[in-house]
Amino acid sequence: MTSSKTAPFRARAEIDLAALRANVRALRARTPGAALMAVVKADAYGHGAVPCARAALEAGARWLGTATPEEALALREAGLPGRLMCWLWTPGGPWRQAIEADVDVSVSGLWALAEVREAAAAVGAPARVHLKADTGLGRGGCQPDDWPELVAEALRAQADGLLTVVGLWSHFACADEPGHPSIQAQLTRFREMVAYAEAQGVQPEVRHIANSPAALTLPEAHFDLVRTGIAMYGISPSPDLGTPADLGLRPVMALKASLALVKQVPGGHGISYGHLYTTPGTTTLGLVPVGYGDGIPRHASGAGPVLVDGKPRTVAGRIAMDQFVVDLGGDEPAPGAEAVLFGSGDHGEPTAEDWAQAAGTIAYEIVTRIGTRIPRVYVKVDTEHEG
Ligand SMILES: *Cc1c(COP(=O)(O)O)cnc(C)c1O
Repeated sequence: MTSSKTAPFRARAEIDLAALRANVRALRARTPGAALMAVVKADAYGHGAVPCARAALEAGARWLGTATPEEALALREAGLPGRLMCWLWTPGGPWRQAIEADVDVSVSGLWALAEVREAAAAVGAPARVHLKADTGLGRGGCQPDDWPELVAEALRAQADGLLTVVGLWSHFACADEPGHPSIQAQLTRFREMVAYAEAQGVQPEVRHIANSPAALTLPEAHFDLVRTGIAMYGISPSPDLGTPADLGLRPVMALKASLALVKQVPGGHGISYGHLYTTPGTTTLGLVPVGYGDGIPRHASGAGPVLVDGKPRTVAGRIAMDQFVVDLGGDEPAPGAEAVLFGSGDHGEPTAEDWAQAAGTIAYEIVTRIGTRIPRVYVKVDTEHEG
């Protein structure tokens, strides 16, 4: 892919919007019968919320999803149309603005229901509410024991014209571990809690529980809507589920830097803070001008992989705030030569998953933490020539 002649750069994250659109189409093909929500929280997992939301809608996503109401309102302000839901509310949150901006809200408990009622009364229009069930994740959501009261209160508010219960939903704990016994237990609990609400008179437009791993591996979890994040960005939810290519996905982000310095050093030279690495003999070093201040995980010190001037290298010593060093083994690429930290893997470069392994984390965290100091450069923005 890429790279037309571009201005010199310290570092940049190239965001391949054609890959994102292809991933959305692939996910839709695997979830027939369900609508697709493009989850663009946390700045679209570091990829840039507005351009990614737009591209996802172009490729057939019918919903957008964010964690916080502020994220959702920012999308509306940028002109993003269509259904938009956010779920992470705290007392005193911007309920009125959400109702006015036509944003669907999630309610897990009575405090939230009370605030929604009040906001809807003030706005003079009903809120669109998704009641969230804790079917076993043990995080957000309403406990089964508290569900009857929440459903009853929501129906009362609906009868008062203050809200419409449009959704019943939940979230998995272990969907990335196919066969984990909690998955079927959560599905059973979800069906029970949905059936209860429906028996009381809730007529949900959408019932939803599937994240990316469930969308990819568990058709019985698709219901009316799947909420996909990581897969849309072309990253496998877990190495256990296969590579992105195995899943028909293409990585969207490529993180590149320009070498800031290439120099010869003698053997026995300590490298970077703490001197965790010492040159085994006379060699050359390359200085890669990104560090943990850019979201490069310090835990990958001595381990992170980088393709430098077409050759695979490894971080030598500590990753610092702004830079790290690679041992170039005597090669002398020119300053400004390309260092690819991760990308699609199609051209020998490492992947975000490789960095996750090196840092002892998940690929979600690798892309999401890439900082604001790294510009996002959007490539293949136009949809022409796509099927
Ligand atoms: C983040 C999130 C998702 C998307 O999860 P992926 O594994 O990235 O697909 C779906 N639903 C909720 C509630 C989330 O917080």
